[in-house]
Amino acid sequence: MIEMREPYAIKDVKRKTRQMSAKVMNNHDHSEQKQSLQTGRMMKFKTKTILGIALIEIILLVIIVISAMSFMTESAETQLIQRANTTANIFAKAVEKDILSFDLSSLDEVIKEVTASEDIVYIRIISYGKTLITSGDPKHLQQESTIDHSLHDVDDGIFDVRVDLKTNESTYGHIDIGFCNKSITAQITRARHSMTGIAIIEVLLVALFSFFIGHYLTKGLTKLTQAAKKLTQEGPGYQVTLNSTDELGEVADAFNQMSSSLAKSYDDLKIARHQAEDASQSKSLFLASMSHEIRTPLNGVLGLLSLIKETSLDKNQTQLVDTASQSGFFLMSVINDILDYTKMESNTLSLERKPFDLHQCIHQVVSSFRPSACQKSICLESTIAPSVPQWVSGDQYRVQQIMHNLIGNAVKFTRTGLIQVHIYADADDNSITLTGQVIDTGIGIEPAMIPLLFEEFTMADNTYSRTQEGSGLGLAICRKLCELMDGQIFAESQPGKGSTFTFQIQLGESDGKPTDQEAVMEIRPEWEHARILVAEDNKANQIVIENMFLHAGIHIEIAQNGLEAVEKVADNHFDLVFMDMSMPLMDGMQACQEIRAMADRQKAELPIIALTAHALHGDKERFIAAGLTDYLSKPVRLSQLLEKMALYLKEDEFGAGEITPPPVLPQSGPENLAAPLPHQPDGLVDDIIIQQVIADTSLEVLPVLIDHYVEECQQRVKKISCAIANKKAECLKFETHTLGSSALALGNRSLSELARQIEHLCIDGKEEEAYQAGATLPQLAADSIAALQQRKSMS
Ligand code: ADP
Repeated sequence: MIEMREPYAIKDVKRKTRQMSAKVMNNHDHSEQKQSLQTGRMMKFKTKTILGIALIEIILLVIIVISAMSFMTESAETQLIQRANTTANIFAKAVEKDILSFDLSSLDEVIKEVTASEDIVYIRIISYGKTLITSGDPKHLQQESTIDHSLHDVDDGIFDVRVDLKTNESTYGHIDIGFCNKSITAQITRARHSMTGIAIIEVLLVALFSFFIGHYLTKGLTKLTQAAKKLTQEGPGYQVTLNSTDELGEVADAFNQMSSSLAKSYDDLKIARHQAEDASQSKSLFLASMSHEIRTPLNGVLGLLSLIKETSLDKNQTQLVDTASQSGFFLMSVINDILDYTKMESNTLSLERKPFDLHQCIHQVVSSFRPSACQKSICLESTIAPSVPQWVSGDQYRVQQIMHNLIGNAVKFTRTGLIQVHIYADADDNSITLTGQVIDTGIGIEPAMIPLLFEEFTMADNTYSRTQEGSGLGLAICRKLCELMDGQIFAESQPGKGSTFTFQIQLGESDGKPTDQEAVMEIRPEWEHARILVAEDNKANQIVIENMFLHAGIHIEIAQNGLEAVEKVADNHFDLVFMDMSMPLMDGMQACQEIRAMADRQKAELPIIALTAHALHGDKERFIAAGLTDYLSKPVRLSQLLEKMALYLKEDEFGAGEITPPPVLPQSGPENLAAPLPHQPDGLVDDIIIQQVIADTSLEVLPVLIDHYVEECQQRVKKISCAIANKKAECLKFETHTLGSSALALGNRSLSELARQIEHLCIDGKEEEAYQAGATLPQLAADSIAALQQRKSMS
């Protein structure tokens, strides 16, 4: 049910490109976070490798050392026990006869000989309960022997063994022998020390070895991580070299393939993006030129219709003319919507920040819909909450535009019932959050359509919408305006029951006096001494700018073209230059480059602000790249000039004057302005611009300005006609550019738009079309001048 028209193709590519770029940006951010995490993981992996190898080695070593030690201890013990038992038995056999025969002298001889050995500490022979003979260490002989069966039982350093003395029937005594186990213990201790030493050396060697192994294993991973980092920082295409045929080598190959295919997709994406941007720019240009193309003849048609209405018509004819006029005015509002939307899309729409009466603003919009609501027998109610301040600061026209669209839709899509408009406000920290609600009992909207309502060219209900006027741009414009005012807009609806549209915007506080923002318009006393050069070839523009500065008490120097500007900068000292871009002899870009190339650093670094009638998407970047410091699009306002002065003038260089209360510029309030013209739908004279010129200069200057402009405009029109007759496209381009900017400065909007359109056709090489479009210019210029003269006589 959603109607999609041609611009969707472009919009779609743009949206996808935006989403993809956002994804790439997001991935970029995330990958940076992940990289740091991965570095942490990499470290852990390396450490883990080292620790793992070391741990395995240590466990193995401990097992080996413990088992080797216990084996050694066991075998030494077995040896000792065997030796002790064998020795004791042999000894017992050897002395058995002497014991039985009580041959004590032989016994003494043998026992002494045996105890002379280092290993045997003592011998004690007990027969029939009595000690027969002893020999050896008296300390041990005095103690009662406790027989040891293993080394664990030894508590005094002596391994005690007992051999029983037996006859055939009975045991009649025993021999106790004490063996010294010092040498075995010393041997075991020595073995333990040397094994511990070997183990420590082994652990150190293993640690070193595992460090190198860990480093070797993670070397490939480190290279891959660095490659991934490079890929994130420098974009896809980076290749990693890893001379390895193992799994890491395979990962590196896969990485390289991924990087190459990403690089290709990235290039494709860039091309698609450029194409989308070009398409978008062409679309903006096309829409702007087409809108103008349609507006000019449409103005003619509407004018003719109003003339026909003056003649004597019968009832039927009057009705036909009325219908034709209504259709014409509707077409004009659609064209204006398209122009507005084009401006918003190319970010060239700027908002005003001026005090205005919010209550009056709301009443005006609501009252304008009362007749149409009444005609449909719909009740239109409005409430303003007590918290809504009367005076706020912001863009009154755009606030009204939002309300106009919402209430207009409510009236359009409601057959019977009630429309309620509620306005609330919340104030905090110098800002007011204004909430507006438009509730109707109309046809409602399908839930699936609600998220798409604020997209351009959307019509939620084709059957009903088709019977109503509409471009499908109103809500898209509302959303953009709300976003520009740091707010939002949303809709709730029940099909068949009605809809509620809620918008929220931020407005500044005001008591009807100048706002903080406008305090920038205060002229600093020291600016009186500032040396400012304005390069501008157009006489009318010169007068406007000169008078604006004069109005602020600042004298300026004027250069007629770029060449003169360069000469003036070379010969004099200036603090700031405002430079028109399109000038004869030398254009603004070249003049700026000449100044930037000057040997005197102070001159070369002079802040230069471009004044340009070109305000297309990308122009600002182009000027800044060419060396200009900043830019202002024409027609300029005094507040904008002063804002740039505040930004770029270095006070210390021209000496700050004593602090005196700064004079405040007169506000463009009603008391300072000439009576505004009744609304002119034909765009011959845009009264808002005239009011601004008066506010920025003075009421007295206006007639002088208009005279100069008219004189110059007539000359230009002659030159344009001549250029068309002689088919001189270059001359036509230059003259229409200048006319476009001076006509807009004095409110001849239609004339300015036609001149711009011709200029763009020349730029695009469509010379024949430019000549054709130029044919209508003299008449439009004559009408515009006449309307301006009329405006002059009214002021
Ligand atoms: P249009 O110029 O067609 O009204 P809008 O962007 O203002 O364009 O609205 C888009 C579509 O949203 C409309 O065509 C209509 O289908 C739907 N719509 C907007 N407001 C209402 C409403 N109050 N009730 C029902 N439908 C609405």
